[in-house]
Amino acid sequence: MTTVADQAAAQAAAEEVGAATRGALLGASRGLPNDARLAQLVAAWLEGGSVLPAWLGLGAEEYAALMARHFPRIGAVAPEPHPPALSIPLADEQGDVADLMIRYRRGADRSELWLAQIVAAGCLGREHLWRDLGLTGRAELSALICDAFPALRALNARDMKWKKFLYRRLCEETGLYTCRAPSCDACSDFHDCFGPEA
Ligand code: SF4
Repeated sequence: MTTVADQAAAQAAAEEVGAATRGALLGASRGLPNDARLAQLVAAWLEGGSVLPAWLGLGAEEYAALMARHFPRIGAVAPEPHPPALSIPLADEQGDVADLMIRYRRGADRSELWLAQIVAAGCLGREHLWRDLGLTGRAELSALICDAFPALRALNARDMKWKKFLYRRLCEETGLYTCRAPSCDACSDFHDCFGPEA
């Protein structure tokens, strides 16, 4: 029988493995912008700590390009078993969210394009976005968006949950406004959009 202590020990062990993988990636990094964020995302994916699909949602060629550019000595490693690719409707949804993010990227480094695709793929999970991406907390997700997509960070002045914010923005920009209330302050779903995300 698995006890709570066993589960805690297993989780701690998994986190340790993830930390070792992240450390190996960082040790092989080239000092480019977003190396640390990408190392965390790749390590979590490799260790089964995220919901990200095949090739981080980038496709095999772009994933190989990411690894060759940021972690050249590591190669295009992949988890075993490899997670499945997204279905066509989900890939379309990922593309819509990624396109939105790319419109607001800093424009400082090519890695922002990969980050947009990866975050958009994480939005297809069911948990909090930072958890589904395998990040260490909401603060790390906010820092990622602040660094790579600063205009989005500025637009989210009320600190809405990131997945909610991205989809709301997408609806506003494409003319499909899905919220039921005229304003957030009058909405019964307020806590779902703005509440704590632990
Ligand atoms: S609080 Fe209500 S109105 Fe505001 S974004 Fe959420 S669902 Fe929409």
